[in-house]
Amino acid sequence: MNRAALSDRISHVWAESVAFGATLFHRLDVATRLPAGVMRQSYGPGEQAAHDLVTEAARGLDLDVQTDAAGNLNMTLPARNGSGPGWLTGSHLDSVPSGGNFDGAAGVVAGLVVIHAFRRAGIQPETDITVIATRGEEGSSWFSGPHKSHFGGRAALGQLSADEMNAAKSVVDGRSLAQMIRAVGFDPDLVAAGPPAIVPASFRGFVELHIEQGPILDHRNVPAGIVSGIRGTLRARNAVAHGAYSHSGAVPREFRRDAVFAASEFAMALEAQWDRWLTQGRDVVCTLGRFHTDPEQHSLTKVSGEFRFTLDIRSEESELLAEADRFVRQTAEGIGERRRVRIDLGSIDRSPPAVMSADLRASLRACTDRLGIAALDLASGGGHDAANFAAAGIPTAMIFVRNPNGSHHPDEDMSITDFGCGARLLAELFLS
Ligand SMILES: [Zn+2]
Repeated sequence: MNRAALSDRISHVWAESVAFGATLFHRLDVATRLPAGVMRQSYGPGEQAAHDLVTEAARGLDLDVQTDAAGNLNMTLPARNGSGPGWLTGSHLDSVPSGGNFDGAAGVVAGLVVIHAFRRAGIQPETDITVIATRGEEGSSWFSGPHKSHFGGRAALGQLSADEMNAAKSVVDGRSLAQMIRAVGFDPDLVAAGPPAIVPASFRGFVELHIEQGPILDHRNVPAGIVSGIRGTLRARNAVAHGAYSHSGAVPREFRRDAVFAASEFAMALEAQWDRWLTQGRDVVCTLGRFHTDPEQHSLTKVSGEFRFTLDIRSEESELLAEADRFVRQTAEGIGERRRVRIDLGSIDRSPPAVMSADLRASLRACTDRLGIAALDLASGGGHDAANFAAAGIPTAMIFVRNPNGSHHPDEDMSITDFGCGARLLAELFLS
């Protein structure tokens, strides 16, 4: 049967499959929503409840269900003709504290909806389709200590060390990640020792469906997006401008070493540079998330001698992050010299952007054309498991679904119709 005929069969059963997804979303919500929002703590009871529900749904679809040493769930619909690299799709089932029902879960439910449709339409895929539900993607909200979050996805790729699992401590009760992995029945020693559960060469591609975490699709009135790349970051977590405290009435300007005006000039210089980058058509966002004098010392009548701020610059382009690195250092030094205020940016860390597969993006674009689904190309501003899979060498793509209320809070929203559009692209892609 050719692809158009198979696609027709999917279309016939699609409404029923999306309804199956809607029911699963509802059950996840009921099981894990508290008054303050959805609570699926990484390696905690909420995440486990979500894994239990999804396992039950996968068994209902008669899938091959496996967990790896880190507790990631792999649910596979086997191919018609045996082996060969398969498709991997899915996302995480944890949430931020007081989060919403769709961040993460949408990607797992989408994979199961696609498989539901294949089952109902009587289609066996050309290659295996595995839906992965990862653990601990939101680790940065649930664990303190030196760690790189995205625990389950990185564990599956063999990138989570014993040191990191011992150093990451739960902000809820102080237990280490290793203890928590053990408490839900999995094996941190095996995670550290390997071998990795995911061998990149065994997959022809990883495609993660996720709600958009910004306002672009909603603003442009488009249900879905094809992610062009996941922005990398340049971050200074502890920048300090060191000037000198002095009397606000008695000290003339030429004697001042005002940390507030120095930091403000730095902020305005960065914004002007941001404008120049945008004028050049570059992808970049800049944020000074914390920006403050010392509340123990500041007063109406003092020139402030110290000012602290953070810096978070993100771009899809490695070259832009390198330029930004040079720009912030030179600007801090120039302003500091002129104003006799030392602007110490502290340590600056950089994470590279994740490149999405051009082939998979083109295939998804062809799917939107065939199905008549409107989709926008856009960058991902947030980090995702997809970035780790892409960096490990698996051809990777992401589908975004419109989300009118933003994410990482309880009011996060997504219409089931929009979800159906995004998941339908996934089903179409997996027909080939
Ligand atoms: Zn997410």
